[in-house]
Amino acid sequence: FSARCTHSNVARACWVGSGIDESVSRQEENVFPAGRPALLRRIALVAHDHKKADLIEWAEYNRGTLVRHDLVATGTTGGLLHEQVGLDVKRLHSGPLGGDMQLGALIAEGAVDLLVFFWDPLEAQPHDPDVRALLRIAVVYNTPTACNRATADYLISSPLLADVDYPTVPT
Ligand code: PGA
Repeated sequence: FSARCTHSNVARACWVGSGIDESVSRQEENVFPAGRPALLRRIALVAHDHKKADLIEWAEYNRGTLVRHDLVATGTTGGLLHEQVGLDVKRLHSGPLGGDMQLGALIAEGAVDLLVFFWDPLEAQPHDPDVRALLRIAVVYNTPTACNRATADYLISSPLLADVDYPTVPT
């Protein structure tokens, strides 16, 4: 688990070295503007369709914090975060097309510090096995995970977010 990166530059190297970048490069170009303040954490964001408005509202409210971090998201979620909130987000495949699995792989490689996953408890998803796998791997790697807004609020406002020495270890 020493492979877990502790700095955003290393995080990007993790993403680049993960093989994920090849699929991403076919999608939207990543944008990491020069001159932005130092990034702290690698935050992964996903929202099922009926939860997307919730996530966008949450991201708008927390935009000032989120811009300081390295963001990665499943395809549609990432597009909305970029278009509606103006966040620079690395976009993976859409969830049903493998995006959740790509996120799971990033977590397994130690390239995600925090997962915000607003999954829909009231509707079955075509990719339910992937959803379950993502939640499972997040627990395996002790990744702080928020599945609703209250938990996301607690995580995003935690002082541990800025503590790069906070040890993250597998359970
Ligand atoms: P999406 O995927 O962001 O591409 O909609 C999310 C999901 O359904 O897991």
